[in-house]
Amino acid sequence: MQEKTSSSRRPGKVWFVGAGPGAPDLITVRGSRLLAEAGAILYTGSLVAETVLQWASPECEIADSKSMDHTQVTAWLLERAWRHDTVVRLQTGDPTLYGVLAELARPLDAAGVPIGIVPGVSSAMAAAAAAGECLTLPEITQTVIFTRLSERTQMPERESLVSLAAHGCTLCIFLSIERIEAVVEQLIAAGWTSEAPVVVVHKATWPDEELVLRGTLSDIAARCRAAKVDRQALILVSPALGARAQTEYRPSKLYDAAFPRRFRPAREGG
Ligand code: SAH
Repeated sequence: MQEKTSSSRRPGKVWFVGAGPGAPDLITVRGSRLLAEAGAILYTGSLVAETVLQWASPECEIADSKSMDHTQVTAWLLERAWRHDTVVRLQTGDPTLYGVLAELARPLDAAGVPIGIVPGVSSAMAAAAAAGECLTLPEITQTVIFTRLSERTQMPERESLVSLAAHGCTLCIFLSIERIEAVVEQLIAAGWTSEAPVVVVHKATWPDEELVLRGTLSDIAARCRAAKVDRQALILVSPALGARAQTEYRPSKLYDAAFPRRFRPAREGG
């Protein structure tokens, strides 16, 4: 960790780092190195698992932005950028998804403060792994949609859950567990049957707190209520769910010996 010298005339760099979904060892190596180098770290206390901060240096100034407004967050980052070579804004999952990176970067850009972005393991990936599920399956679905219900943040009209769900592909639904009944309603309206499987993962990868709930569209809302899961959960809906239990499963062409690949000629009758 380096404090800037008083004669330095250039600001340090502000890094938007993906903290990953919760488990401290699911931040990237690059992200943890930046935490160790940082003179100041601002994290979103309501979402980022505090155990991830174990990678920070003991002298680092660490603050929680939970009770700050946008202007205060920007002012904090700008002020620290003039004092430290490395400043980190630590965000849950991947910083480019459902965060306010663009809004925070704008004033930094305007002030000539350089920024960098370090990707993170999104909760969508963590939820699939926790549940032991694949998000794509050969010939069943090859498309994944990351979306949410409209609420305080208005959805563009062409992105209503009903219209997206009508594709029948995999849906990773963020920020919507409080309104699981409305999610179910819209999926049914889009043509999914009430027997369609659903997985809800609460606090994916958080040590001792992760909870995986399985059900169908007809009972998942009741299961969530019974388990008191009403925040920080990812809803997975997909025709690929439960693939490991399916006996009539056709293996991927990628591993089929008859399927030519760039580095492996096709074998006849393989
Ligand atoms: N950038 C984050 C998403 C932030 S929005 C990412 O890439 O994951 C916050 C929403 O993400 C929550 O409402 C919840 O839907 C989901 N989420 C974040 N962390 C989660 C976790 N550990 N387990 C399940 N869902 C999580």
